[in-house]
Amino acid sequence: MVKDGDPNYSDDNDEEENFSEDGDWGDWEAAEKDDDDGFESDFVCLFCDSRFVSSDSLFDHCRLSHGFDFHGARKALKLDFYASFKLINYIRSQVAENKCWSWGALGKCQLEAKDVNFPWDEEKYLKPFLQEDSLLYSFADDEEEEDEEEALDREDLIEDLRKLGDLSIVDDEAIGESSVSNNGKCKDVSLISNSDDGKQSCADGLVVVNGKGKEPSVCDGRLVGRNIRKVNENYFGSYSSFGIHREMISDKVRTEAYRDALLKNPSLMSGSVVMDVGCGTGILSLFAAKAGASRVVAVEASEKMAKVATKIAKDNKVFNDKEHNGVLEVANSMVEELEKSIKIQPHSVDVLVSEWMGYCLLYESMLTSVLYARDRWLKPGGAILPDTATMFVAGFGKGATSLPFWEDVYGFDMSSIGKEILEDTARIPIVDVVEERDLVTQPALLQSFDLATMKPDEVDFTATATLEPTESETEARLCHGVVLWFDTGFTDRFCKETPTVLSTSPYTPPTHWAQTVLTFQEPISVAPATVLSGDDRQGAIGTKECPASSIQLRVSVARASEHRSIDVSLETTGVSSKGQKLRWPVQIFNL
Ligand code: SAH
Repeated sequence: MVKDGDPNYSDDNDEEENFSEDGDWGDWEAAEKDDDDGFESDFVCLFCDSRFVSSDSLFDHCRLSHGFDFHGARKALKLDFYASFKLINYIRSQVAENKCWSWGALGKCQLEAKDVNFPWDEEKYLKPFLQEDSLLYSFADDEEEEDEEEALDREDLIEDLRKLGDLSIVDDEAIGESSVSNNGKCKDVSLISNSDDGKQSCADGLVVVNGKGKEPSVCDGRLVGRNIRKVNENYFGSYSSFGIHREMISDKVRTEAYRDALLKNPSLMSGSVVMDVGCGTGILSLFAAKAGASRVVAVEASEKMAKVATKIAKDNKVFNDKEHNGVLEVANSMVEELEKSIKIQPHSVDVLVSEWMGYCLLYESMLTSVLYARDRWLKPGGAILPDTATMFVAGFGKGATSLPFWEDVYGFDMSSIGKEILEDTARIPIVDVVEERDLVTQPALLQSFDLATMKPDEVDFTATATLEPTESETEARLCHGVVLWFDTGFTDRFCKETPTVLSTSPYTPPTHWAQTVLTFQEPISVAPATVLSGDDRQGAIGTKECPASSIQLRVSVARASEHRSIDVSLETTGVSSKGQKLRWPVQIFNL
C-alpha cells in the first residue's frame, strides 16, 4: 500500500484521462463539468448567515464584524493551503455546534503555539463542512499576488490575534521555529520525492527522498493543492489516482510476492473463498481467481477504484453478477461496513488477503481494518496473507546522509549545508533507500507481529534491540542514526507449497517503501569489541576517544491521535567495551 495523500500523483497520468466506461463515471464527469462551468459566487460568512459575492468581501466582513482576519491569521500562523482549508471547515463546524461564533470565542480553544498543535489540524477538517462551499474554492486564488505583497508584520499580527481571540500563544519564538513546517505544525512538513520517472510525490508528516538528493525539500501545499477537486482526491480519493496503483503494481518485489503466494499454493487456494481487503485495481483478486478460488470478494472503499476493479474483472472474464458467470465480486465499501453492500456470512472466508503495509510498516497502514475483517469474516483456522510482519533496525553511517554530497561540490566545501540538514533530520523521519554498504551495524529484530493472532491494540508497542557494529570493521565509524524496515511473510503455516517473504530491507532490491531513516541528534562512534579489546580508552562513550561497542535501543511506536499517523520515540544508549553506558536524550519522531 502506498500512503495516501500524494497530491502530485494524479495529474500527469494519461491513463486516467483516457479511462472511461459508459455510464460508470457519472460523478467524475459531473465534477469535471462543474469545474469547466465555474462555480456560483455565493460566499457564506464563517460566523453568521450573511452572504457575499466574493471571498474578499466575505473576509472583509469577517474582519470587521467578527474580528477575524483570515489572511492575517494565515500569515501569522504560517498556514498553508491545507491548514487554511481545514481552518475554514473547523470554524464552520464549531459555529454549527454553537461552540463559538467569533474568533474571540474560538480563541478559547487554547491555541498553544509551543506545541503548534492547532485544533483544526485534523484530517477530518479536510472534508468540506458545507457541501457547496465556494469559499474553499477561492480563498487561495490571489495567493501569488499576496506573496509578492510586503509581508505583514508577524509580531503585530500575533499580538492582534492574541487580543482578538484571547489566543494563548505562550511562546512566540516557538512559532518562529515552527516555520520549518509549512502548515504550522512541525510534524506535518510536506516534502517532495522525485521518483525515478521524474514524478514528485508529497507526503505529509515524513520526508520522502529518492536517494539522489538526501535533503528534504519543503513542498508548499499551495503548489499542489489549488483546488477542491485535488484536495478531495488527496484525502478521500487518494487511491483513485492511477499513478499510485501503477507504482504499487510496478513494485515487482511487492507484487510478485503476492502473486507467488496466491498462484503457487494450490492446496490453499483451489476452491477457496477469498476476501481481498482494499482491492484497488483488483490485482490480488485476479491472482486469486486465476488460482482457482470458488469465490473472491474484492472490497474497496474508493468508489472510483471499485468501478475500475469491476470493469477490469469484466474485461478479464472473471466478474460475477447476474450476467457474468465468474467468481469475482466487487464491493464498494469500507470493509468495516461490508454487510451493507453484499451478503456474506460471518466466518465464511478461507483466505483473507490484503496489501495493507505503509511506510515503516505502520504509517497510515490499514492493518486495523484487516484485523477487523479477520475477526469478522475469516473462518476459524482460515489463512491470512501475509501472516507475519517483522520490523528490523540497523545503524547507518555517513554514506547514508547528505554529508558526502555537500563536502565536495565541484571542489568547494559546502559541508555547512550538510550539517544543517542533518540537524533538521534529527526531528523528521526520512523515507529513503539506504544501501547495505552504508550500514555500520548488524541488523537487529525490533518487533514481530503474528497477523493470524495479534490483537488490534498490539499495533502500538515498545521494543528493545541491541546494535552490534559490523564485524568487518577494523576501526571506529560514526553511526548517524538508525534505519527501520519490515518484512512480511507468507509462511508455510498457510503457504505449504511455496512460502514467500516480501522484504523491504537494505540487503534486498529496493521497494516503493524504501526504508525509514531516523537520524541521531549527534553521531555515535562505534567499533566492534574485538577492535577495542585491550584498549583502555578514556573519554565519553560514543566519541572517537571511546567508541561504543554496541548501541542499545528502546523504540516505541504508537498510533497518533485519530489519524493513521504514528509517533516513534527513540531512546539510545551507548555501551563501552567495559560495559559502561551513556544514554542520550529521547528523540520523538512523528510520522
Ligand atoms: N490490493 C491493491 C491495492 C492496495 S492499496 C494492490 O495490491 O495493488 C490499498 C487499497 O485499500 C486502496 O485502494 C484503498 O482505497 C483501500 N482501502 C483502504 N482502507 C480500506 C478499508 N477500510 N476498506 C476497504 N478498502 C480500503
